Amino acid sequence: MTAQIIDGKAIAAQIYDEIRAEIAVLKEKYGIAPGLATVLVGENPASKAYVASKQKTCVDCGFHSVGEHLPEDATQEQVEAAVRRFNEDPAIHGILVQLPLPRHLNEEKILATISIEKDVDGFHPLNIGKLAMKGRKPLFVPCTPAGCIELLVRSGIEISGAEAVVLGRSNIVGLPVSLLLLHRDATVTICHSRSRNLPEICRRADILVAAVGQPKMVKADWVKPGAVVIDVGINRIPDPTTKSGSRMVGDVDFDEVKEVAGYITPVPGGVGPMTIAMLMWNTLRGAKIAAGLIET
Ligand code: NDP
Repeated sequence: MTAQIIDGKAIAAQIYDEIRAEIAVLKEKYGIAPGLATVLVGENPASKAYVASKQKTCVDCGFHSVGEHLPEDATQEQVEAAVRRFNEDPAIHGILVQLPLPRHLNEEKILATISIEKDVDGFHPLNIGKLAMKGRKPLFVPCTPAGCIELLVRSGIEISGAEAVVLGRSNIVGLPVSLLLLHRDATVTICHSRSRNLPEICRRADILVAAVGQPKMVKADWVKPGAVVIDVGINRIPDPTTKSGSRMVGDVDFDEVKEVAGYITPVPGGVGPMTIAMLMWNTLRGAKIAAGLIET
């Protein structure tokens, strides 16, 4: 059996169409354009590329987009002041502090400075806290985990009652995706670097989410036939046949696993395109919250 490929690019494109349609209405009826502010500290090339791509997507979707680029040696006070300026700006509905920050900065304090109404990354402790509680609704959900759920839902996969196994427990991916699966009534097992018998645990999964940052770790014999496999991993491995000498692979051994799984996301082109799409979705939501169009 060969798995059905879950096409993240196509699903993200659908989401952008929905966002553009909603923005047209917001602009016409209420004169509002959603605004996203990015805060970038230092010269990390990957971070600069991510921020540039988020800003470009903003423009493509009709968002108002501004950015603050601070030097590598910016102080804690300078970064917090930039966040506070955007907190007070009514044209801004979402603030994104690009992670990782240089090591001398206190990331936890900076993320907690973001107004909860503009926390479109969903990393504010209040939003994460609400996500962890039964019957509570965070204002925003972290983008990559929300993207994983959107891929499942839009592919018609039943989450309620499913046995879900999540590999990884990070604040950014593993933990929030586990909580989102739990909210949708999956039975969730979270694995990490100290977990024993990983292949055995993974074989129980109807839905397997891999977010470990270990190239091709998940093998065919870790996967129950017909299971849904969501690969969040982004890893570069050497490949002398390419121009750059390397290529991108996920945490799942795609070629092997696609022969066993029922559905699988490719890398690239699976979860990756969903992250920015969900950021735009959250920023649109922020604009609707600010305009009183959504009850919170
Ligand atoms: P982290 O390094 O923060 O977390 C990795 C998690 O995996 C940890 O919980 C760690 O366990 C666990 N882990 C690591 N090695 C093993 C192992 N051998 N066996 C079992 N568990 C292990 O990574 P992130 O969560 O930030 O990212 C995970 C992957 O997702 C990366 O490849 C990253 O590039 C990618 N990513 C992709 C995004 C996208 O848009 N597609 C967005 C964000 C991340 P422990 O807690 O015990 O250390």
